Amino acid sequence: MAGTDHICDTLIIGAGLAGISAARTIEAHNKSLDGGAPISYTVLEAGDKIGGRVQSEKVDLEPGNSVIIHPGAQWFHADVRPDSAENPLLAHVREYGMKTFHDDMPRDFFDRGKKGNFLKNMRKINEARSLIDGYQGDDTDLATFFNNSNLGTGSALATTFGEVETGAPLSQVSTHDVRELVACNRGEFSKDGLGPFVEKYAQDIKPHVKLNSMVTKINWKPDGREGVVVQTANGDTYHAKRVVMTTSIGVLKSGNIEFQPPMPAAHADSLSHINMGNFNKIFLMFDKKFKFPVNANTHLDAHTRSGHDVFYLSRDNGQPLITTFFGGELARLCDRDPDAAVKLAIDGLAEIWGDDVRKHIIKTKVTQWGNEPLVQGGYSRVEIGHHHVRQQLAEPIGGVLYLAGEAMGTTHPETGRNWATHMAGAKLSGERAGREVLQSLSQGVSVGTAGERNTSMTRFVR
Ligand SMILES: Cc1cc2nc3c(=O)[nH]c(=O)nc-3n(C[C@H](O)[C@H](O)[C@H](O)COP(=O)(O)OP(=O)(O)OC[C@H]3O[C@@H](n4cnc5c(N)ncnc54)[C@H](O)[C@@H]3O)c2cc1C
Repeated sequence: MAGTDHICDTLIIGAGLAGISAARTIEAHNKSLDGGAPISYTVLEAGDKIGGRVQSEKVDLEPGNSVIIHPGAQWFHADVRPDSAENPLLAHVREYGMKTFHDDMPRDFFDRGKKGNFLKNMRKINEARSLIDGYQGDDTDLATFFNNSNLGTGSALATTFGEVETGAPLSQVSTHDVRELVACNRGEFSKDGLGPFVEKYAQDIKPHVKLNSMVTKINWKPDGREGVVVQTANGDTYHAKRVVMTTSIGVLKSGNIEFQPPMPAAHADSLSHINMGNFNKIFLMFDKKFKFPVNANTHLDAHTRSGHDVFYLSRDNGQPLITTFFGGELARLCDRDPDAAVKLAIDGLAEIWGDDVRKHIIKTKVTQWGNEPLVQGGYSRVEIGHHHVRQQLAEPIGGVLYLAGEAMGTTHPETGRNWATHMAGAKLSGERAGREVLQSLSQGVSVGTAGERNTSMTRFVR
């Protein structure tokens, strides 16, 4: 296919939060120049819109009744630990004058339809959290860790730390990784939805974004010379001095993008120890008549009669909506057999609120992130003993190719916590890659403080 040749200083692949943040960093540098030469950049996005895993969608239900749903990210999470700093995205939310409301995540626990003891469950979760935070031993899976600590692996721990949170059962979750990541059991919702937030966040860099531009090949050592040559499915070729690559771990591992030469051994090895957790949502939308038996934003953690651990978010933003969170095996069911997944979600809710609930559900929608070729899963999960791969993957390749995205996360400059897996992690890692590109292209450009790089990932213990 005949295509066009393009030249730019920096090419950014992917227009999710990481790619947008890398582009914003370069844009801010260009704006700050006083007569110097700006760094030219282009963002290539395979999809037909920006935002990646951050989208919102309005669904009309009946006259005067509609809801806004979030197929991907939904909360600006906050770290529950006492030494935590604010989610770095919230400063932008305020700058744009967007409204949020705080979600302290009030939780009701149900075991096969029967309400559990709230205080007992919360005590257990808090005890588990502080044991993880103080853990200095070799990495182990959380199921073993909880059993060795005599906490067991009951539903409250499974929904807080296991499939519904990480996309994998406790037996596959790295205790070290959980210790280093922010602990997000509260947060803020955007009242306007996250789609409008992303539009505002990307406003200044949007003229540089090329949609429907799927990258198929990256040659990061063309003829042994410095620079990168990138090809797209529509036949275009881009010549860039530096490339920031922000696609998900699922896409990186899929082989859909050819690296030439192949990634260095250290990066290839790191990639073999990080995967996508499986995570999906089922939206149950209600008619106007239904009287919800709980307040807005109530979290229902349920161990269902079918033996599954499910999390229901009831009435976010006061909407007639239940968002069901399915992780791990149940998330794979959404990808494979969405009707069966919807049935499980409704059956589980009917155990709690009674069968009457069924007739008020007028629409349902299921996400299938595992089937989405541009993402291929929920978000990243490291294998036991390999939490350091998040840091290793962020090392530049050949001095020209920089990986960024939620999987690499980046340590928060104030707390030393890593925001990997979250929107904030994508933002920080995109900014980190942007600063490193600027530094390598023009000596003397400030690249921020040492704490903002992944090298401080070992500062996790409080
Ligand atoms: C169901 C779900 C719920 C979540 N809930 C939350 C939450 O409540 N709070 C939170 O903070 N985080 C949440 N997250 C995680 C959050 O969405 C991600 O951490 C973040 O959005 C990732 O951003 P990113 O830029 O790293 O990757 P992405 O958003 O995946 O962006 C990568 C971009 O690359 C593009 N791309 C892929 N292949 C190519 C190619 N070949 N060529 C060009 N472009 C390509 C993709 O289309 C995409 O736009 C959730 C995620 C999921 C799936």
